[in-house]
Amino acid sequence: MLAMSIFGPRWHNWAHTLDAKPDVLARPRTEEDVQDIVRKAVADGRRVRAGGTGHSWSAGVPTDGVIMLTEHLTRPGSGKPFVDTGGATPVVRVGPGLNQGQLQHVTQPHGLAFPTLGVVYDISLGGFIANGCHGTGWEQPTVSDLVTGMRVVLADGSVREFSQEATPDEMDFARVNLGSIGIITELQFEPVPLCNAHAVDETKPMEALLSRKDPTVLRDQITSSENPYVELFWFPFNTKGSLEGEVWFKHYRPTDEPCDGRIPTRVWDRIQSELGQIPYYEVTLNPKSTPSLMPLLWDLVPTRDEYIAPITDVFHYQHYTFPVTDISFAIPISVGEGGVADFSEANEAWWSFVDAIGKAAERDEYPINVCLHARFIRNSQALLSPSHAPAGSPTHYCYIEGLTFQPRHLETLSPGVRQFHDFFAQMGPRWMELGGVPHWGKDFSAIPSVFEHIRGIYGERLRRWLAWRDGLDPDRVFWNAFMDQIFGGPGL
Ligand SMILES: Cc1cc2nc3c(=O)[nH]c(=O)nc-3n(C[C@H](O)[C@H](O)[C@H](O)COP(=O)(O)OP(=O)(O)OC[C@H]3O[C@@H](n4cnc5c(N)ncnc54)[C@H](O)[C@@H]3O)c2cc1C
Repeated sequence: MLAMSIFGPRWHNWAHTLDAKPDVLARPRTEEDVQDIVRKAVADGRRVRAGGTGHSWSAGVPTDGVIMLTEHLTRPGSGKPFVDTGGATPVVRVGPGLNQGQLQHVTQPHGLAFPTLGVVYDISLGGFIANGCHGTGWEQPTVSDLVTGMRVVLADGSVREFSQEATPDEMDFARVNLGSIGIITELQFEPVPLCNAHAVDETKPMEALLSRKDPTVLRDQITSSENPYVELFWFPFNTKGSLEGEVWFKHYRPTDEPCDGRIPTRVWDRIQSELGQIPYYEVTLNPKSTPSLMPLLWDLVPTRDEYIAPITDVFHYQHYTFPVTDISFAIPISVGEGGVADFSEANEAWWSFVDAIGKAAERDEYPINVCLHARFIRNSQALLSPSHAPAGSPTHYCYIEGLTFQPRHLETLSPGVRQFHDFFAQMGPRWMELGGVPHWGKDFSAIPSVFEHIRGIYGERLRRWLAWRDGLDPDRVFWNAFMDQIFGGPGL
């Protein structure tokens, strides 16, 4: 027994903040392997969870039963080709283990792309879709909404196909499933033609982009037809002697102009992310050094650039990241008659964060040493999406997140990380008051009352989804402690 616990299989997430000792760590290569592993697990009385690339801070993967890693499941489970251009509209099919960067290599040679994607290269699509993840783009949905079909291995080992064509009523239940309906073995997308995008990175004083008193300043930046894709980043204390300083304003738009060959390179990206870690150890172990070191770190951030590149390269502007922890909420933006969006809550979410950082500094605490990041999207019809809205709803969402450096293996010793969690014990409830809904994959679980908030805000949708899920997996094979936290315990 002892030998098993020391030498048995171990799993940890990307951030090294979660680990698990499952009885079995399986690495299937085909859909048939997945079926066999599920059948055996059920026969042995074990629970099963899928593991993508482990880029979540929330505990969706851990189980003491079977963790099924999807890294080899890069090809479509059906055995069909990745790209099918034979029909009226092209179809892209991938295995769940394919990552976002590899997806780009599959579609780009065919002149195909997607209207939105996440940023980082190496996150698996299975996990990205299961947690309802998103990119940016005022008129774009989440990436999960781009899925038009799925194959899922259920608890009895059978394969269930969901699709927009055959099971349209079930797609919004299946897309965002938190890994708890079965193992996704294929994702199908309807791509769009590949185009180029004109990307601009610039900095502006915070008040030029966001006015504390007037949310229309932010609204006009985000809803401008000039800037269909916008991201805002604020690195606290980036300018010597000032809390607010400048904001990195990243924006891009599709263009017919040719590429100028200036795609940021992977090598430089890697070097920057490795070198950037060195001063961050000082900042996180000695948070009081934050205001003096931040201007230097800010200089490493690629905030000034302009280039024209294939839009997929522009989406994936960052290939590597150094270890961080991250809490993110989707804040609703209501849109009234005449299409006028009300950015009051999104603006307040931003400024309440900035003000709270200012107050923390008065106590000589520096809970954020990376950034506050905001992206803006339309909405999602998936029942479990944090940015859910009914079909046809004009509501949009601001995904706002705070990130701080999380040194691997030192996180519990790091005063910076402790300050981050203390800070979010206050900030999380403020964002929840603004209607904010936590991103499933991020580090929200320790925020006081967050699970009660989730149950309140999803309400009837959560119950409908659970009833549908339990119909597929009545014995809760694909269940774990995180699911208990979300749904309020095993007795629900
Ligand atoms: C550096 C970094 C950048 C990020 N960027 C973004 C971003 O741009 N946008 C955004 O929204 N989020 C982002 N995130 C969050 C991240 O994308 C999500 O947490 C995502 O769910 C991680 O996917 P994964 O493959 O690593 O899944 P894991 O963390 O391994 O698993 C997440 C969940 O998906 C389930 N799952 C995985 N594969 C399958 C499968 N085949 N079948 C069924 N269930 C499955 C797991 O069981 C688990 O419940 C980022 C995270 C990091 C660390």
